[in-house]
Amino acid sequence: MMRTQECGGLRASDAGREVTLAGWIHHRRDHGKIIFIDLRDASGTVQVVVHPDVAPEVASVAETVQREFCVSIRGTVAKRKEGTENPNLPTGEIEVAASWVEVLAPSETPPFAVEDDVEVDDATRLKYRYIDLRRPEMQHALRLRAKVVREIRAFLDARAFTEIETPILFKSTPEGARDFLVPSRLQRGRFYALPQSPQMLKQILMVGGMERYYQIARCFRDEDLRADRQLEHTQLDLEMSFVEQEDILQLLETLFIHLWRECLGIDVEQPFPRLSYAEAIRRFGTDHVDLRYGMELADLNEVFAGTTLGIFTSVMASGGVIRGFAVPGAGELNHAQLKKLEHSAMDRGAKGLAWVIVREGGEVESPLAKHLSPGEREGLASATDAKPGDLVLMMADAPDVVNPILGALRMELAKERGLIPEGSWKFCWIIDYPFFVWNAEEDRWDPIHHPFTMPVGGGDALEGDPASVRASAYDLVLNGLELLSGSIRIHRPDVQRKVFDALGISPEDADERFGFFLEAFRYGPPPHGGIGCGIDRVMMQMLGTDNIRDVVAFPKTQSGIDPLSGAPTPVDAEQLKILGLRPLPS
Ligand code: ASP
Repeated sequence: MMRTQECGGLRASDAGREVTLAGWIHHRRDHGKIIFIDLRDASGTVQVVVHPDVAPEVASVAETVQREFCVSIRGTVAKRKEGTENPNLPTGEIEVAASWVEVLAPSETPPFAVEDDVEVDDATRLKYRYIDLRRPEMQHALRLRAKVVREIRAFLDARAFTEIETPILFKSTPEGARDFLVPSRLQRGRFYALPQSPQMLKQILMVGGMERYYQIARCFRDEDLRADRQLEHTQLDLEMSFVEQEDILQLLETLFIHLWRECLGIDVEQPFPRLSYAEAIRRFGTDHVDLRYGMELADLNEVFAGTTLGIFTSVMASGGVIRGFAVPGAGELNHAQLKKLEHSAMDRGAKGLAWVIVREGGEVESPLAKHLSPGEREGLASATDAKPGDLVLMMADAPDVVNPILGALRMELAKERGLIPEGSWKFCWIIDYPFFVWNAEEDRWDPIHHPFTMPVGGGDALEGDPASVRASAYDLVLNGLELLSGSIRIHRPDVQRKVFDALGISPEDADERFGFFLEAFRYGPPPHGGIGCGIDRVMMQMLGTDNIRDVVAFPKTQSGIDPLSGAPTPVDAEQLKILGLRPLPS
């Protein structure tokens, strides 16, 4: 037997037992008369002792082992001498007196120590990912991720869902990102697209009578990478027939309550609050609502109705808004820090950022101070709920400019200034989305979700002003991060046609892009709806990290490179020729 038990599980009650362990050398300390080895396996570490005068042949091997050697050790568990226990280690009451040590495989000096708080740059960490994965934090992240997926499966399997795989080599799917293309060898000059999501296929599964489908699906989107986005991500993809929005919201809410309880031992507040999209924008400037703290945005047009400030009057005259929010305690910020805030707003597209520090007795400090009447000072403080010592930040511009920028500043400042309570989990549904968003660059309406989403009120709702049509779409947000989105789908070809018309997709265009899909809908499709939920994001939240690379075993860098393998790599001319491809001169 290569080992009789795991290192991390040994306790005082095991004293006297003969054990065989296997793992990695975490540390070795050679004190001449005694050698200490911390032996680590996936379960934890245990202290091993070797006495050269008692077991010289064991010591001769033990003296040679270095960090990260893979070894096997046999010995007897013994209670540590009083005063030498380590209360910080689960195995800290015992040690293993070694009677035999064997090197299973030596290790070169690792590029960094297997410690959670070791200082090492991301590129090195990813290049030597196998060393990085030995760290307890990464081990925990990947094991928790596996548990989450296991719990999702158990939960859905118990509710008559069927897990179904859909192809990776497929056709372009309409999630709005750029496709990854795969050239076909057998059909020269043709390409598969990797799915941005299994959207059309899961809807076809509903036409196929599967009724309740899910999949832990890999989705590919050729977009710029960000801290929370990789080129490929894993999604819980789910679809149900004969349901309304309420059924889906209930199911998912129960699932998330279950996951937090089973995987984190936390009972989250329920029911999850529901906010309409309009309310989310009004109060938080974004639909990525973070309900863990206040600092809500306030409308200030009324406060400044009689202002003499030219910038405010001209913005209001052109239909714009003045909005702002208070940052508790931020009245202490100095000029340079306030300038930095202004730059951060301007980097996001603001023309400027006004600041007012509220002081005792109705006094204010601000570049605008001399333009603010006592009534405006009071109105500003009461609208934003600012107390003496708080900082009020304001912008005046079109709502589409003001809201997202103030929303982002709100979240950034709450984080920077430590205003977010620890251990708080605020789930929130965003419902009542508008159906269309205006794409000013392309001069057209785009769907806010995807073109298969049902308009509230069906096809007739599309007759009026596009801006007032609402979508049967919903998002689940946790602590300011979107975890899932979904919708009730269009199941009637006549409604789908109207939506395509409204989006400027001609029948020929629709046929070319989604002909196979639309054809399926000629054969009695059931009403249906579903969601796509980002598993990586769920894990980021559970593990409290902002970096998606902390929750993926083999992630890519910001520039899309896999430092482990060096991918993407050039291919040889012969491979390209077989595919009928010729590279352009670079
Ligand atoms: N396909 C959508 C997405 O990936 C989710 C859905 O509507 O089910 O965002």
